Amino acid sequence: MTTPRQSCAPERFSAHVGVQRLTDDGGRVRNFIAEVQVSCTDCGEPFHFLCPDTGFSFTRPTVNVGATMLHAPIAPGEAVLPDRIRFEVQRPVGSGS
Ligand SMILES: [Zn+2]
Repeated sequence: MTTPRQSCAPERFSAHVGVQRLTDDGGRVRNFIAEVQVSCTDCGEPFHFLCPDTGFSFTRPTVNVGATMLHAPIAPGEAVLPDRIRFEVQRPVGSGS
């Protein structure tokens, strides 16, 4: 960390990904959760995730309070192809009409 946060324009990033195995009372693995954190390499400031809900779920991505850690349910192997895929493209803020 060499750049003070006030004067930093984030250009380099660090990411940490951890995988948690969640077991039931019998010790069997029931769920896997990927935990993702991103920060600025130069000043260390954490990034926050913009979209997911706060909380914890085994079926959809969520974030911690403060949104600095993404919890994403995962499973081994390839996923079954979805019935439909949705893409949302929004105009950048301040780009005019
Ligand atoms: Zn920075």
